[in-house]
Amino acid sequence: MTGPTWFDTHCHLHDVEAEPGEVIARARAAGVTDIVTLGVDVPTSRRCTRLAAEFDGVWAGVAYHPSETQGWHHTWTADIEALAEEPRVVAIGESGLDYHWDTSFVDSQQRAFAAHIGMAKRLDKTLVIHTRDSIAEALEMLNRAGAPERLVFHCWTGSIEHLEEALGLGAYISFAGNVSYKKAPEIREAAKAVPADRLLVETDSPYLAPEPYRGKPNEPAYVVAVGEAVAVARDQAAEEVAAMSTANARTVFGLSP
Ligand SMILES: [Zn+2]
Repeated sequence: MTGPTWFDTHCHLHDVEAEPGEVIARARAAGVTDIVTLGVDVPTSRRCTRLAAEFDGVWAGVAYHPSETQGWHHTWTADIEALAEEPRVVAIGESGLDYHWDTSFVDSQQRAFAAHIGMAKRLDKTLVIHTRDSIAEALEMLNRAGAPERLVFHCWTGSIEHLEEALGLGAYISFAGNVSYKKAPEIREAAKAVPADRLLVETDSPYLAPEPYRGKPNEPAYVVAVGEAVAVARDQAAEEVAAMSTANARTVFGLSP
């Protein structure tokens, strides 16, 4: 491999329609050496741990996505904790708050997020956070509970003020395909404002394909296009963004350099 290497910090290989082995091979060919695949409930988290066990360079996150927390009961953490003990599980995620799709069980979402913050700290795993129309509340909950040592805000869409607050908590900030969308100048502003040692890139595949693949199923190989869009926003060479975001990902997920 002579070109730059990339690290896709957030995707859902359990949800891709194609054969995971083929998707991973295409990522490799594009220079993507590492991929974190995250579950959204117990079965998908289990599937992610199996994919991580099967494929080199694939790592897993285990959690209940906020949209899957309706009727949350504190005993639900047990299955996630057990999965977190599997080898190659680097994260509790994706967890968080989503007030965009359904606000009828905000209380369940908040109790689940609090439980996931606690798990990340107890198990010394990186917390991967999803927010949608809920960043202020998520930051407040992290402030109240005390943030885990290593945390990632995935698919950043927040304001510069919230960005400062997240950085103050020690967070790493990950950008997804929407950083390349024409109508998202505020995401590019944030990508420019993130310090070099806190910047990450991701695909969130199979969702949110970057330009020029928008509208198609996304896959980890396209993290290269996300990184190139971030590089344009930061007025930096893509190679530099590749090198620093890959090094940052290894640090935040506790992998050897
Ligand atoms: Zn996701």
